[in-house]
Amino acid sequence: MKLLVTGGAGFIGTNFMLYMLNKYPEYQIINVDALTYSGNLDNLRSIQNNPNYQFVRADIADREAMYGLFRQGIDLVVNFAAESHVDRSILEPDVFVKTNVMGTQVLLDAAKIHKVSKFVQVSTDEVYGSLGETGLFTETTPLSPNSPYSASKAGGDLLVRAYHETFGLPVNITRCSNNYGPYQFPEKLIPLMIANALNDKPLPVYGDGLNIRDWLYVEDHCSAIDLVLHRGVNGEIYNIGGNNEHTNIHIVKTVLKELGKPESLIRYVQDRPGHDRRYGIDAAKIRTELGWVPKYNFASGIKETIHWYIDNQEWWKKIQSGEYQQYYAKQYGSR
Ligand code: NAD
Repeated sequence: MKLLVTGGAGFIGTNFMLYMLNKYPEYQIINVDALTYSGNLDNLRSIQNNPNYQFVRADIADREAMYGLFRQGIDLVVNFAAESHVDRSILEPDVFVKTNVMGTQVLLDAAKIHKVSKFVQVSTDEVYGSLGETGLFTETTPLSPNSPYSASKAGGDLLVRAYHETFGLPVNITRCSNNYGPYQFPEKLIPLMIANALNDKPLPVYGDGLNIRDWLYVEDHCSAIDLVLHRGVNGEIYNIGGNNEHTNIHIVKTVLKELGKPESLIRYVQDRPGHDRRYGIDAAKIRTELGWVPKYNFASGIKETIHWYIDNQEWWKKIQSGEYQQYYAKQYGSR
């Protein structure tokens, strides 16, 4: 079985590569990643000499490169590659459309020509927009994205749906809530707060800190994608979420408490424009139809995560110092 994973050097992609190579030692897994600012081959050191693992540096929007790759014979595709940070999409939306919409379309064309047996599009609950105080997103909730990031993910999702309806491509779309865990780029809420607290730097919290997100430990997301990849019914969408809704300020205070740092480090800053108030996922479909059961609750997952960042300070300090780019060229050349 030949599995193509896109964006495998990013946060969730890394965790998925490690999970899959461990669970399916007979699979050949190709990781195609453009190594943007958030892709980091250091994450994959432990598998770089595994004969069943191959890394290809390429942009998913590069049609020639993708067609060349698919000519190797690909059975399964999981598309993680994306511009993923909402704040960056507000500053620079163009690249979000290029990767998340056009890149997805190139992959779909390649998958169609080479008749893959499954294409899984890894998407986000953010495509559904924002919830009020009650209710949950289901797979039939209308798409109502509010940021350029979520709009570009929704655009990619709609193309995936269309390639199923029009060309019969065997696809699934997964829509997951906020992930946390090892290898998350330190611009995202949880690693940013851990890193700042460890450095005794102020912890910036948007608005009143009462925006609510549903948090899922990354390994539970990987097990859900694995199930969808192997057992998902073609054309279906599966929501993935942990029933772990927390306000941002609760997360920040949990981090400070675990690290023994004072709440005086908290700084409320101007809210993000278009900041969605609440996300909440109804994951009943994947639980009942595919038998998915998450392993982690928030209390255990957040502890593991905090301790991973304590034990791996070199990993995030290198990224934060900005020397990673030069390091990459030195270490890996232009590969
Ligand atoms: P990330 O930013 O950590 O990783 C993205 C990876 O994609 C990086 O390795 C980057 O180099 C690569 N990439 C970017 N543009 C590329 C391109 N044009 N061609 C090839 N590779 C490219 O993101 P993440 O948090 O790991 O998210 C992965 C996927 O999961 C995304 O599609 C995201 O929308 C989705 N998702 C994320 C979350 C979350 O909480 N992080 C939740 C739900 C869904």
